[in-house]
Amino acid sequence: MRFAPIFQFSIISVIRSLVMLIDSHAHLEMPEFKRDLEAVIQRAKESGIEHIFTVGTEQRDWKSALEIAHSHPSIYAILGVHPHNAKEIDNETYALLKGVCKDEKVKAFGEIGLDFFRNLSPRDIQLKRFREQIGLAKELRLPIVIHDREAHQETMEILRSEKAENCGGIIHCFSGDYEMAKACIDMGFFISIPGTITFKNADAFREIVRRIPLESLLIETDAPFLTPEPYRGKRNEPGYVRYTAQKVAEVKKVSFEKVAELTTENALRVYKLL
Ligand SMILES: [Zn+2]
Ligand SMILES: [Zn+2]
Repeated sequence: MRFAPIFQFSIISVIRSLVMLIDSHAHLEMPEFKRDLEAVIQRAKESGIEHIFTVGTEQRDWKSALEIAHSHPSIYAILGVHPHNAKEIDNETYALLKGVCKDEKVKAFGEIGLDFFRNLSPRDIQLKRFREQIGLAKELRLPIVIHDREAHQETMEILRSEKAENCGGIIHCFSGDYEMAKACIDMGFFISIPGTITFKNADAFREIVRRIPLESLLIETDAPFLTPEPYRGKRNEPGYVRYTAQKVAEVKKVSFEKVAELTTENALRVYKLL
């Protein structure tokens, strides 16, 4: 019995190393985490989440995303201007963005794209700023993180005309059909699956995920949004990416470990940490 705790510890370490997960997309700098950020990060660690990529979506968030990344070796930053904030871009924005993106902790550019569901910025401005920011990402040699909501066709048109295959990256919170997923994969993009895959009414989405090869998948929380079951309705946090991984494994009829291993490898590859 004297040796039991040591034995137990080594088993736990082995299990941990087998089930390492990455939350490829969260928003830790958002006000929802102001009160208990350290506890949230600690809980993620305890659930085997090895890395979190936190996305600063507007100018006032870039600095806080970088601060969080710099105070935690396991956290990296993604910076850009979200389509919701496209109308706020002015003459100084891109120069500032270029400056902050040179930080060694920044691993991708985004999230950029189109949101024709909420239309918080006028559509023509979203289209223009999306194009410009792909150009900026190319200059910075960073992969791009794409946000596409109810704008599949326009997103594909821009990715093609701007030759986005030259930067590659991720279609985050993927919501297109299988054909779109395939076209994006052919352009060198990864498809990132959020917690919505656990929702009761998501059969059609699960069927699409079943057909996408695991070699092209990432998993994400988009925390504090899109909380998976069994916590739907509450605030999302990176530790819950485990439920998304579990559902992907179930849908694809493979082991949880296999999903963990491949999605981790894919994330490390796209963010150039391998
Ligand atoms: Zn998004
Ligand atoms: Zn997001």
